[in-house]
Amino acid sequence: MAQDIQFAWSLYHGYENYKDKHLSNRRFKYSNILPLIHHLKNKNIFTVKKAGESAEGRDIYLISIGNGDKKIFCWSQMHGDEPTATAALFDIFNFFLTENHFTDFKHFLFDNTTINFMPMVNPDGAELFQRRNIFEIDLNRDATQNQSPEAKILYSAFNEIKPDFGFNLHDQDRAYSAGLSGKSAAISFLAPPFDYAKTLSESRTNSMKLISEQYNLLSDFIPGHITKYQDDYEPRAFGDNFTKSGSSIVLIESGGWRDDREKEFLRKINFISLLTSFKSIAEESYLTEKIETYQSLPNNEKLMMDFIIRHITVRKFQTKYIVDIGINYEEVNINKNYSFYYKAKIEDIGDLSVYSGYKELDATGLTLIIGKTYETEFNSVNEIKSVDPSSLLQKGITNLKLSNVDIENNYSPVLFNIILNNIERKEELKEEAVPNFILCDGRKFKYAIINGFLIKANTMGRKEGNALIFK
Ligand SMILES: [Zn+2]
Repeated sequence: MAQDIQFAWSLYHGYENYKDKHLSNRRFKYSNILPLIHHLKNKNIFTVKKAGESAEGRDIYLISIGNGDKKIFCWSQMHGDEPTATAALFDIFNFFLTENHFTDFKHFLFDNTTINFMPMVNPDGAELFQRRNIFEIDLNRDATQNQSPEAKILYSAFNEIKPDFGFNLHDQDRAYSAGLSGKSAAISFLAPPFDYAKTLSESRTNSMKLISEQYNLLSDFIPGHITKYQDDYEPRAFGDNFTKSGSSIVLIESGGWRDDREKEFLRKINFISLLTSFKSIAEESYLTEKIETYQSLPNNEKLMMDFIIRHITVRKFQTKYIVDIGINYEEVNINKNYSFYYKAKIEDIGDLSVYSGYKELDATGLTLIIGKTYETEFNSVNEIKSVDPSSLLQKGITNLKLSNVDIENNYSPVLFNIILNNIERKEELKEEAVPNFILCDGRKFKYAIINGFLIKANTMGRKEGNALIFK
C-alpha cells in the first residue's frame, strides 16, 4: 500500500507533463479530440480503429494498448455534457507516449493487460453540450433496446472485448455532498448491481474491492470527498447490464470541487484514479481489499449549493426576520456551445443550516433590500459605463434601462442587469427568482447581489459571473 501511495503521488507531481493542453476548455468538441486521435494512429504502441458512427456521422473510435490477458475497457462521455474523464483519457495517452521514469511500470502493465478506450461515446451530444444524443435518447437508458447508434457501438465494443474490468466514466451534479459532512462529493464510485436484490457476485465483489483500494489511495488527495453513488438497480443502464454479463464494472462520477468550475483538478484525480486502477488490476492487488470499505463509504446527498448567504435580516409587512438564502448558478450555452453565461436562481430561503455552499457569506447584522430599477433610461452601453457604479448601488439599484439599443446576448456587458424595450420588471425574494438585492449595514451599502453574484463595496468588480439582460 505504501508503495502504491508513492506511485499515486508521483503521478500527481508529474501530471503537468502529461496534461493535454489542447483540451483546456471543458466544452471541447469532437473536432478538438479528432486530431489527438489521429496523432495516436501514428504511434505504434496504440491500435486505433473506427468502432462506428454517431447518428450525425461522427466516427467513434476504439483505442487499445498492451498485449496482456487481463482486458480493461474505459468509455467516457456517453452523456455529452460530462467531459472531465474524456480529457483525463487523453492525459493518460500522453503519459503512455512520453518517455518518463515510469518505463518499467508501463512494460509491466502492457505485458499483463490490454486496455481499451472509447473516449466521447456521445460526440453529437458533446457538440451541443447536452446530456442526450441527437435523438434525445439518454444513452445510459438505452443499454437493452440499443435504439441509438452510439449505444449499439458501445455494446458491440464491450461484447468484442469481453473486459475483466470496465470503467464507466461520468460527471455528476455539483449539488452532491459526501453524506452530511458538508463536503462536496468530488468523486463518487459505484459497483453497479445487476438485479433488484443487489446480489453480490464475484465480479461485483471485485469492483467493490477495487473501489475500496481507490478510496484508500485517493483519500490522500481528496479526503472526505469520496462517496458511494446511489446503488439502485437500473435495468436500462450500461453498468448494470455489463455487470450482469460477468465483468467487474466501476462507475466513476466527477462531481464538484471548490473554486474549480472547469474541474481541472478532478480531471487530474481521474488521471491518477485510472492509472492506479490499471496497476492494481495488473498486480491483482485489489484482491486483498475488503468490500466493507466500499460499503461504508458515505452516500451521495444533495446538500451543496453554489452560494449561501447566512443570517440575513429581511423586513416585510413591518416584520423583521432572519433567513439564509441559497443560490445556484445555471450555465446557459452560448458561442456555439463553446462558452456559457450564468443565470442564477434562489434555490431556497430559510434555515439552510444542513446545506453547505461552495461559497458562503455571513450576513449577520446586514439587512436585505430588494434590487431597484433606475428610473433614468440610458441610450448606450458606453453611457452606462461613464456612470460611477457605486452611486447607483448606494441607491439600491441592480437594474438599468437601456432604450433604442438591441443586444442579442442575454448576459450584460456591465455590472448591472439591463432592461431592454422598457419591459416591466420587479425583483422579488422568492424561490426560483433571480437573486437581485442589496445588503446594507444600517443605511450603508455593503454588498450587492446581482444575478446571484457578490459585488463588494470596496472592489466594485466582478471576478466571476455576469449580470443578465431582461427583454
Ligand atoms: Zn452521466
